[in-house]
Amino acid sequence: MRIINPYSDMHSHTFTYSDGLNSVDEMVIMAGRTGIRKFAITDHSISHLRQHDIEKKTSASCVRFRWKNIHNDVKVIFGVEADLISENGRVDFLNYSKTRDFVILSAHRHVYQGDPEKITEGYIKALERHHEEIDCIGHLCANYFGKEVNVERVVDAANHFNVPVELNCANLAFGKTNMEKLNQMLGMVDRIYVNSDSHTLYDMMYLRIEGLKFLREKGYVE
Ligand SMILES: [Zn+2]
Ligand SMILES: [Zn+2]
Repeated sequence: MRIINPYSDMHSHTFTYSDGLNSVDEMVIMAGRTGIRKFAITDHSISHLRQHDIEKKTSASCVRFRWKNIHNDVKVIFGVEADLISENGRVDFLNYSKTRDFVILSAHRHVYQGDPEKITEGYIKALERHHEEIDCIGHLCANYFGKEVNVERVVDAANHFNVPVELNCANLAFGKTNMEKLNQMLGMVDRIYVNSDSHTLYDMMYLRIEGLKFLREKGYVE
C-alpha cells in the first residue's frame, strides 16, 4: 500500500463555505504551520448543508476569482466533499464555493437518501458513472454505514477505476470508524490518501499525525 500524500492534506472544511469553525485564511495559515506543501479545502455539498441548516455566507466569486494565498508557500486548491445521494449512484457535486479541483465522494447519514442496505451499490454505481470526476473516496468505514457497507466490493471497484480511498484521520481519532472494516480496507487498497477532514485548527495540527502513527504501528507502512 502506498500513501499518495505524505506531505499534503486533501480534506478540510471551512466556516466560509460550510461547517468548519475557521475561515479559509485561518486554515491556510495553520496549513503553513503544520509543514504540509499542498492543502485542499473541500467544503460540503449543498445537499449536506441544507440537511444541517447551514446557510450560505458568501459568494463563490471571492474564492474563484479573487482569493490568493498571501500567508505562506502552501499550494492551496479548492474542491468539494461531494455526497452520494442515492443507491443509483446519484451524486451532489456542487458546494457554495463552486469549485471541483479535488473531488471526494462521501456518504453521510440523512444526506444519502437511499436504502442503507444498498449503500454498496450506490458507491459502485457512482464510480461507474462519475469515476473520471472523483479523486478520492472519503471515510468509507465511518460508523454511519459501517455495518451495511461491503468494503471489499467498493474497494475492488475503486481499484478497478483507479480511484484511491482515504484514511479519514478525524473519524479514526474520534472513534467514529468501524475498525474491522477499516483493517479490511487497508489490507486491500493499492493507494490511499491520509486526510485530516479538519473542521478546526486543532484537527489540522494533530489528526494526520495520529493517522500516520496508526498506519506505522499496525504495519501498513514503514
Ligand atoms: Zn463537516
Ligand atoms: Zn464527510
